[in-house]
Amino acid sequence: MEKKGLLLVLSGPSGAGKGTVCRALLKNEPYLRLSVSATTRTPRPGEVDSVDYFFLDSEVFNKMIKDGDLLEYAKVYNNYYGTPLSFVEKSLKEGRDIILEIDIQGALQVKKKYPEAVLIFIAPPSRFDLKKRLFTRGTDAREVIEKRLRCASGEIKVADRYDYIVVNDQVARAVEQIRSIITAEKSRPHNFKSLLNSFN
Ligand code: 5GP
Repeated sequence: MEKKGLLLVLSGPSGAGKGTVCRALLKNEPYLRLSVSATTRTPRPGEVDSVDYFFLDSEVFNKMIKDGDLLEYAKVYNNYYGTPLSFVEKSLKEGRDIILEIDIQGALQVKKKYPEAVLIFIAPPSRFDLKKRLFTRGTDAREVIEKRLRCASGEIKVADRYDYIVVNDQVARAVEQIRSIITAEKSRPHNFKSLLNSFN
């Protein structure tokens, strides 16, 4: 069997619960590795450098762009975010499955470079539910929430460019659905080239 890893990309509007789903998935699937992104955003309380993000200043981030060290990057809510390329390449080569939790602009860039990447859009069950989650989370100011809601409408419009949509009404159910997607994707013929060729 081919030893190439699966490149999973998870996105969704802020408040859809993609972080929670991603953490729950990683807990259940020890073979899955999370890519740590680089960002110019300042750390939130409790966030740890090199664990949650590589917190960089704009100068270093721009140098990474210039040197081609990022697989993708995008400006999200006034800060830059990007996926370090070397970790993704190394993991895939080693046959490790990898997950990126990134915004839609980045996800579509990844799909262009890696057509075999599997794009999963985490959707909230409804607009009402999304609004409720953003307000009860209590981490952001009202105007920030309003902005995130406006962005969510735009993001949901491009959800049909993803390979799969997972509605996060219950985290456990969303995780189960993603596990099924992983199983199905691993069964695609391009993962069995060596096996199929061995019969020639
Ligand atoms: P936060 O600042 O709340 O951690 O993340 C804000 C947004 O940036 C989220 O939608 C998150 O998915 C996205 N994001 C995080 N890392 C990356 C990345 O490496 N690339 C892109 N394009 N978006 C990212």
